[in-house]
Amino acid sequence: ATATVKPPTVTLDDVFISVKTTRNYHNSRLPIILKTWFQLAKKQTWLFTDTNDSDFQTRTNGHMINTNCSSSHNRKALCCKMSVEFDTFLNTDKKWFCHFDDDNYVNVPRLVKFLGDYNPREDWYLGKPSIQAPLEIVSKDKRAQKVRFWFATGGAGFCLSRALALKMMPLASDGKFISIGERIRLPDDVTMGYIIEHLLKKQLTVVDLFHSHLEPMKFIRRDLIQDQ
Ligand code: UDP
Ligand code: MN
Repeated sequence: ATATVKPPTVTLDDVFISVKTTRNYHNSRLPIILKTWFQLAKKQTWLFTDTNDSDFQTRTNGHMINTNCSSSHNRKALCCKMSVEFDTFLNTDKKWFCHFDDDNYVNVPRLVKFLGDYNPREDWYLGKPSIQAPLEIVSKDKRAQKVRFWFATGGAGFCLSRALALKMMPLASDGKFISIGERIRLPDDVTMGYIIEHLLKKQLTVVDLFHSHLEPMKFIRRDLIQDQ
């Protein structure tokens, strides 16, 4: 017998891959996803949008979810979508929630391998910040105290373990995520960081394997792309 403390093995079926999209991007952004990485995770990937689209509903085998959120690019609409993504994950039995934008390429086998290094029964907030220092905001409550926290850029992708998501439930489930976003008046990914780092006091683990469009592709070594 071995006495290792290795986390349990992760398979693709343990991962809920959540992609945020919007009606105006269906035709320009979804075909390339469906042609490429989606093929490797058809059953595990769900696309969250803001309209019914029977064409893409067919092409994704019914994996388009109409959040009924507004299709404008404002804070409330984006927090609304994230809130539905989060609630939908909670209603599954998946161990990991991984969010991506519709202009992200998801390296499916690498993502699964990467999650294998972490235990989903522990609290994990995995992603990449896009700022050099923690965000500092002045909270309205408690004598205008300064609040500092990191957040993972939504456009770089991030993952939450089920254990952490369960702890977030009382604060963020059933639309409460939207209320918090409204209260601090910040975007969905920032709201996520606020809930996890500030309210729950769980730290973001910075993962350099995630990339947002803020990093030009030419800065990633070609021979290392397959490991990202
Ligand atoms: N998006 C959305 N509603 C909008 C505009 C964008 O849900 O009105 C989504 C879009 O599908 C993408 C993410 O928000 O997943 C980021 O959008 P985009 O790449 O256009 O902007 P940026 O990365 O510059 O924030
Ligand atoms: Mn983008």
